[in-house]
Amino acid sequence: MDLRTRAAELDASDPLRETRDLFVPAGGGDDVVTAYLDGNSLGRPLRATAQRLDDLVRRDWGTRLIRSWDERWMELPTRLGDRLGEVCLGAAAGQTMVADSTTVLLYKLLRAAVAADPERDEIVLDSENFPTDRYVAEGIAAETGARLVWVEPAPEEGVTPEQVAAVVGPRTAVVLVSQVAYKSAWLADLPGITRVAHDAGALVLWDLCHSAGVVPVDLDEHEVDLAVGCSYKYLNGGPGAPAFAYVARRHQGRLRQPIQGWMGHARVFEMGPGYEAGTGMRSWISGTPPVLGMVGIEDTVDLVERVGLDAIRSKAAALGDFVVDVVDARLAAHGVRVVSPRDAQQRGGHVTIAHPRSREIYQQLWSEGVVPDFREPDGIRLGLAPLSTSYAEVAHALVRIEELLSC
Ligand SMILES: *Cc1c(COP(=O)(O)O)cnc(C)c1O
Repeated sequence: MDLRTRAAELDASDPLRETRDLFVPAGGGDDVVTAYLDGNSLGRPLRATAQRLDDLVRRDWGTRLIRSWDERWMELPTRLGDRLGEVCLGAAAGQTMVADSTTVLLYKLLRAAVAADPERDEIVLDSENFPTDRYVAEGIAAETGARLVWVEPAPEEGVTPEQVAAVVGPRTAVVLVSQVAYKSAWLADLPGITRVAHDAGALVLWDLCHSAGVVPVDLDEHEVDLAVGCSYKYLNGGPGAPAFAYVARRHQGRLRQPIQGWMGHARVFEMGPGYEAGTGMRSWISGTPPVLGMVGIEDTVDLVERVGLDAIRSKAAALGDFVVDVVDARLAAHGVRVVSPRDAQQRGGHVTIAHPRSREIYQQLWSEGVVPDFREPDGIRLGLAPLSTSYAEVAHALVRIEELLSC
């Protein structure tokens, strides 16, 4: 069957086919985007978000003015954190907050974990983790004298519990891992690695940037200690939307964050002479919450709750399987390889393919409104955002790749 026809049939029978229309349509005229496959780098905005931003500017900010801090904004970081925790993270209320960037939250949590036990001065992390995770850890090592202990996974895979077990010990303070590897999409064994870290008496810090909103996560059930993640990828919070942090209740009060600001103080508006940490997740906030950036997150969390994370996960798997099938059937003959796990159970929400001409192909695709991601040295990353990506888009991108490789 013709690939585009097959894609049209898959779209017609897709249980999530209607969520696509909830998003702001991409491009028009000369600026038309025919296939957006980068929702794992910058998620598309929901139409509802445009309305909510308008309400915020005209009503909450424009009319209520500073009264809105009392009426709704002060509580937003923890209220939104609780919603996100409940719907996407398997986290009971009181353990998640929204603020800062992922990078800054990684610093706060990792720094707190390193300070937790003076006998433990090693950070375990892997060479395939996202640059900011590695750089933040390097900085903390330089600041504190902690030692970095590197795990080196195969680039086309990711970290395994066995690899972590081989390096953890009585000096391990914390193990830092991304649940979904940003390049390969390898889905790490969160329960397994968490257990290995705990067996060594260490804490674990999960980076959920490529999981939140697409892979169900059960932080409480697996007794995860700490987690961070982005809101502008699958959660469609918009450019620079703030990140989230999870600190398990049992560690609150015991772990201390390093950036003591007035907004984390026990009594913010007393403006007293010295710092006194607030309780719960409030104490992990440092400065004024980025209210404008939080508006969009809530719309996607509502949508995820409505359609269910399991349905989203199933569609991510099906879209990924579709890519793998088409690459095998039509692109492998041109030298294209799948460099993500072929088994959907082992894969997050994107599929990376590789070819020596990837850079050139990617540039040509962008020029014609087909928008995947390029990853050094030769990877094209196809982000499959189940709420907004259609099979037709994926088919169109793959057909164009095949045509470009044929000439
Ligand atoms: C996207 C991403 C980040 C981004 O961090 P920012 O501070 O938002 O720039 C961090 N870690 C991982 C694993 C990511 O995928």
